[in-house]
Amino acid sequence: MSEQFDVIVIGAGPAGYVAAIRAAQLGLKTACIDAFTGKDGKQALGGTCLNVGCIPSKALLDSSRQFWNLAHNLPAHGISVKDAKVDMAAFIARKDKIVKQFTGGIGQLFKANKVTPYYGTGKLLKGNQVEITAADGSKQTISATNVVLASGSIPIELPFAKFDGKHIVDNAGALDFTEVPKRLGVIGAGVIGLELGSVWRRMGSEVTIIEALPTFLAATDADVAKIAAKEFAKQGLDIKLDAKLNKAEVKKDGVHLTYTDKAGEQTLVVDKLLVAVGRRAYTKELLAEDTGVKLDERGRIVIDEHNHTGVDGVWAVGDAVRGPMLAHKGSEEGVAVAEWIAGKAGHVNLDTIPFVIYTEPEVAWVGKSEQQLKAEGVPYKTGNFPFAAIGRAVAMNEGVGMVKMLAHAETDRILGVHMVGPGVSELVAECVVAMEFKGSSEDLARIVHAHPTLSEAVHEAALSVDKRAIHKGN
Ligand code: FAD
Ligand code: NAD
Repeated sequence: MSEQFDVIVIGAGPAGYVAAIRAAQLGLKTACIDAFTGKDGKQALGGTCLNVGCIPSKALLDSSRQFWNLAHNLPAHGISVKDAKVDMAAFIARKDKIVKQFTGGIGQLFKANKVTPYYGTGKLLKGNQVEITAADGSKQTISATNVVLASGSIPIELPFAKFDGKHIVDNAGALDFTEVPKRLGVIGAGVIGLELGSVWRRMGSEVTIIEALPTFLAATDADVAKIAAKEFAKQGLDIKLDAKLNKAEVKKDGVHLTYTDKAGEQTLVVDKLLVAVGRRAYTKELLAEDTGVKLDERGRIVIDEHNHTGVDGVWAVGDAVRGPMLAHKGSEEGVAVAEWIAGKAGHVNLDTIPFVIYTEPEVAWVGKSEQQLKAEGVPYKTGNFPFAAIGRAVAMNEGVGMVKMLAHAETDRILGVHMVGPGVSELVAECVVAMEFKGSSEDLARIVHAHPTLSEAVHEAALSVDKRAIHKGN
């Protein structure tokens, strides 16, 4: 007899492990299966996010920012440091230590919440049985009333620039360079390209980013994207828009790229090439043929508005389903599914998911951009406020960027808030709360914000929607 659970979760990324913990908290007998192997050769829970995504990238972004600031920010404070050096082994080891701390932490949380972990590849069979294949090929089957599919995503590979793990790499490779590449090529000026491109630019690489679209950060509000583009260019990120890679050939002296832009065919030689052109849902070996679970045209697991697959007791969450590929989106789906399984009222509002790009300056937004509202014909009014007029930002020598707020022209309900500048990854949270509570710009305008803080930019942007900002002309 196979061991019987109330809930089996396949995948222990931020969508799956959170679903498992919440299910266990609700008194359900829960198992979570994951196949990810860490650098030490042992199971590493936490998925892409903890192992090769959110956490290690933020660790390297922070280390590289400290290094960059020595030469580019501290002199403005009257501080100079001579002969600063980087110990690359220590730079990477610090990141690895943080990863291990957090992946190990999930194991402890599983123990504390009585979630049973399994190490191996889980395959859903008909009748909510799950076959687990261990690394040595041995198999066992467990079963449950409910199965949550949380298998995540993997990087998209370009047929003419295949990953070799050495010269042409994905995110995992670019988080583990043993030395600073003199010339780094990046395909895709999306979130990964900009974040990891920034890491290596700050460490001294010449970074060239090749982006297929003619518009920079097309999903971001155009005013914010324009400021970000200007700042990234100042930092030396060479972003080539409307450029299509044709070929990447590994030769003795580097990776030879051929791409076409408006001026015709171009060539470029780099030491390393990071391909970051998006990710796709990963469902390999996840589903037996007769389960009835469907995939859409992009390979994502088809679900309804309650993350249910339509197959009795089978649910799916995170990067493997529709919606933005973000850790916090997957985690909220994981919580909601556990609550729906337990007969409670789960809730995920895909319209108020915050987006953050952890560059310098940071970029963050929630809700609709001005171009989206225009395209949808929604009447809106707008306000903004620059960080150049925020005392705290200027005191930090980071008075760059702005907060822009969009509210409905008739009801004043906040429709979107877009920011570029210092600390906006944190400032966006206030706007998410306001939008989730269906707040108006006047609500934020009438709330007291501490002085001097960066949050005053949100306050003043809200005031500016009604043309009554205090510290700038309206
Ligand atoms: P994953 O994290 O991909 O986890 C899925 C897990 O399931 C993996 O461990 C996989 O091994 C396992 N698995 C798959 N199939 C099976 C199977 N059949 N059996 C057993 N196990 C299986 N998002 C943010 O919100 N903020 C950020 O700052 C951020 N930074 C990122 C930086 C990088 C470089 C990358 C690559 C991504 C980043 N993301 C960020 C995106 C974020 O990592 C993903 O949205 C998130 O990890 C998705 O969570 P998930 O649980 O759906 O899938
Ligand atoms: P992305 O979708 O953010 O960007 C990919 C970029 O590559 C796009 O601008 C696209 O136009 C471009 N592109 C596609 N094909 C191309 C080609 N052939 N040549 C040149 N350019 C091409 O994807 P990503 O940066 O790979 O990130 C993957 C996912 O990971 C994203 O969905 C993102 O949500 C998530 N992520 C989030 C964060 C964060 O929240 N801070 C950080 C990293 C990754």
